[in-house]
Amino acid sequence: MAEWQEIIEKGKSSHKLTHEEICCLLAEPACEEELARAADEVRHAYVGDGVHLRGLIEFSNYCRQNCAYCGLRRDNKNIKRYRLSAAEIVALARQAQAYGYKTVVLQSGEDEYFTLPRLRAILLSIKELDLAVTLSIGERSYAEYKALREAGADRFLLRIETTDAELYARHDPGMSHERRLRCLQDLKTLGYEVGTGTLVGLPGQTIDMLARDILFYQQIDADMLGIGPLVPNPHTPLGDAAPGDWHLTRRFVAILRLLLPDSNIPATTAMDTLKPGGRDIMLRSGANVVMPNVTSGEARRNYALYPGKACVNDTPEHCRSCMSARIAAMGRFVAEDKGFRQRRKI
Ligand code: SAM
Ligand code: SF4
Repeated sequence: MAEWQEIIEKGKSSHKLTHEEICCLLAEPACEEELARAADEVRHAYVGDGVHLRGLIEFSNYCRQNCAYCGLRRDNKNIKRYRLSAAEIVALARQAQAYGYKTVVLQSGEDEYFTLPRLRAILLSIKELDLAVTLSIGERSYAEYKALREAGADRFLLRIETTDAELYARHDPGMSHERRLRCLQDLKTLGYEVGTGTLVGLPGQTIDMLARDILFYQQIDADMLGIGPLVPNPHTPLGDAAPGDWHLTRRFVAILRLLLPDSNIPATTAMDTLKPGGRDIMLRSGANVVMPNVTSGEARRNYALYPGKACVNDTPEHCRSCMSARIAAMGRFVAEDKGFRQRRKI
């Protein structure tokens, strides 16, 4: 038995791996299929065959931050900025409900126009629709996170991007790694389901750093983990960078499923962008969530984190039926519940 086979067996049965063992799997392309199979079995055993669909509403592409990889960064002048009105956002949530989605994800750049009172009003209207709400709006104060939670927000997505403080400082100028960690801690304290994750392929990132990311997610017991490869955007400082390694990202996600067996793990759009059909492969490699886009028309096109974003020209109706067909084709089903994390004895 190869060393990596023993490590996969250990991860599958004990849900614990050392830093060295994680590095070994991340660095070994030959282990990928077996690792993905093991992750798929753990996914089946712990979170079942239901796939949770979360309707994604991209409500503003204004951002005060300047992340080196992201098309929404404030210095990018090659982007048409937009923000949806409260009525438009609530109408999209209603649309999501009509498609049968039980959760909406409200995502935006860090847009200060959306003050607490504005966000509160939107949340209160959406909660009347009996939908779970995930926010993905970046860094806010403890008091704001608290008020948003009280207005009904259930979950929050805030990727740490990398746990390496130096690498973070290089690619997220003007931001503070310490503050990002504090935000995650605040969200946890306030009783949100907390999602975080890694951007795989940041220039300077090493296998050693990625392994530390994985152990960090296990240590904070993340409820959701969104992992995606870097898709270089020519209108950003990382325009000439190499794309993130799709296969390395797949191994990363599969290891996460072994170590956090009952967490919710999406098959991310960036995996589809770098490899058509990539999300389907991820659903068979440990993932159990998909976030179909509910945003339509011009806003959908202008929420341009990176070029060639999968499904950018599709309608939300098309996304709904396409995803359901893809899920059924792999012998799985669309889950009917809101998809909160169900903690299992590990
Ligand atoms: N502004 C919020 C934040 O940063 O948390 C939410 C929106 S932001 C666009 C969501 C995620 O997009 C980020 O966490 C980042 O990892 C990802 N992203 C941005 N640019 C990307 C790129 N060029 N390739 C892949 N993912 C990217
Ligand atoms: Fe803004 Fe988020 Fe993009 Fe950074 S990743 S520039 S915070 S939208």
